Amino acid sequence: MKRILLLGAPGSGKGTQAEGLCARLGIPVLGSGNLLRAEIARESDLGTAAKRFVESGKLVPDELIVAMMKRRMEKPDARKGFLLDGFPRTLNQAESLDRILDELGVRLECVLEIDVDEEMVIGRMSSRRICEANGHVFNLLTHPPKRSGVCDHCGGRLVTRADDRPETIRQRLEVYRRNTEPLIRYYESRGVLRKLDGTGSVEEVLDRAVHVLSEPSESAR
Ligand code: AMP
Repeated sequence: MKRILLLGAPGSGKGTQAEGLCARLGIPVLGSGNLLRAEIARESDLGTAAKRFVESGKLVPDELIVAMMKRRMEKPDARKGFLLDGFPRTLNQAESLDRILDELGVRLECVLEIDVDEEMVIGRMSSRRICEANGHVFNLLTHPPKRSGVCDHCGGRLVTRADDRPETIRQRLEVYRRNTEPLIRYYESRGVLRKLDGTGSVEEVLDRAVHVLSEPSESAR
């Protein structure tokens, strides 16, 4: 499968699994949160417009996100396939994604929902660290870097995300329940949704994900 969407609450391990899956499947991760953080870091117009939403745990307006993701999906490296992480997050974005896929003449083959409980998610997010340079994700408890504070992949500095503070975490979980959970039903009704148990080590979940993706399925658009 080459066009995959990962769904899951903030802190469900989505970003980490996306990196692992891409390495195994040889397709790029198109992560809306990572793309936004890069835009904010370089103070582009989009980054400046998105910053206050991202830092308070609110959703960035659909038009900005859809245009950003469309540009990313049109890049040459995405022709061989991609894994979407963090987009779509609302039904309106899901409908926009359908139109983009139609224009590109491709379809989403699988929507993988990572299932974890809320207590676990809150614990995970407060011990999460990300690489300032490239967005690689670590967790002090479950997936620590080899050297404290330093990214294993590129030597970048590891930092706590601005939106991983407890009050913002609660806000993001609420936003997920309200806006993103309806997407589960949207994709379920099209027969492309598959559930993935998100408990266990990074490797265990990754093996499970690869297994789930290797099973034959119906297709969505
Ligand atoms: P993430 O790294 O996926 O947890 O995203 C971090 C933050 O970026 C979110 O809390 C939102 O503020 C913003 N964001 C990322 N993806 C989207 C999206 N598809 N729609 C709206 N806002 C988004």
